[in-house]
Amino acid sequence: MELLDGKKVSQEIIEELRLEILQRISEHKKIPHLAAVLVGHDGGSETYVASKVKHCEKIGFKSTLIRFEDSVSEEILLKEVQRLNEDDDVDGILVQLPIPKHIDVEKITEAISPVKDVDGFHPVNIGRMVKGLPAHVAATPYGIWLMLQRYKINTAGMHCVVIGRSDIVGKPISLLMAQNTQPGNATVTICHSRTKDLKAMTLQADILIAALGKAEFVKADMVKDGAIVIDVGITRLPDATKKSGYKIVGDVAFNEVAPKCCYITPVPGGVGLMTIASLMMNTMNACKMRTGN
Ligand code: NAP
Repeated sequence: MELLDGKKVSQEIIEELRLEILQRISEHKKIPHLAAVLVGHDGGSETYVASKVKHCEKIGFKSTLIRFEDSVSEEILLKEVQRLNEDDDVDGILVQLPIPKHIDVEKITEAISPVKDVDGFHPVNIGRMVKGLPAHVAATPYGIWLMLQRYKINTAGMHCVVIGRSDIVGKPISLLMAQNTQPGNATVTICHSRTKDLKAMTLQADILIAALGKAEFVKADMVKDGAIVIDVGITRLPDATKKSGYKIVGDVAFNEVAPKCCYITPVPGGVGLMTIASLMMNTMNACKMRTGN
């Protein structure tokens, strides 16, 4: 069993971006600028946004954090997105999800200029990705793809089973794995809550991607010997032994599944860190697309 080490690979990507920034400075090129919008005080969202800002600093990107209270109106949030679209210095915009229920998340997503949509959630970016055109690909699926690429795993002809069909993980990673690229060229099965006999499906997987959001759901008897297991899940479970009061677990029961695998991602230290690294890559690309270099 080999660990797919998100910490190591994401650090490599961050370092490559940092060096690219030094090069850009010496060539007087624009420095990428990421604007993050955070609504409310959700603990998870605060952590994710703080980590994104910290990574920008590490690389040498500019970053701006714009905060609103939970009570902010849809109109004000739309105006802020519009202001950021029009701000020529801003290359990437992200609105941290979830946002309060009184705001239409689709309206906010579609208000972001596709070229600045570094989360890759805008229908234009999703459509371009489906067609295999240059696009900002959603950070989590792109991070999984990059991880497989960096470990030089030849996925052609493999059977990839994805558990979950969300717009931000399950659907896009299924498409990326089926694409005529490397990684890619897999035969993909998408499973969801209405799938009959999920175990019969997962046992056929050469690559199993678990993105359902249920703590330690995938057990050893659901995994084929020698499979590659990618665990996307992030669930906080109460843990009095931790300073934070909780521990993070994935969708895979790591201790019992790992010995059966050829490769497996840990949680934490796997897909989550790759998500941030790919968001940073999208931000660099947005800057290059906007400035032409
Ligand atoms: P989501 O929108 O809740 O989607 C979950 C999907 O799993 C749905 O398609 C659902 O099916 C399916 N599902 C739920 N229970 C199932 C079951 N028992 N059997 C089969 N399928 C089942 O979740 P998401 O946004 O994709 O996120 C999934 C997990 O990944 C969460 O833990 C989230 O925190 C984590 N996540 C991690 C990262 C990262 O950076 N590592 C990024 C994003 C998300 P239906 O469609 O039929 O309801």
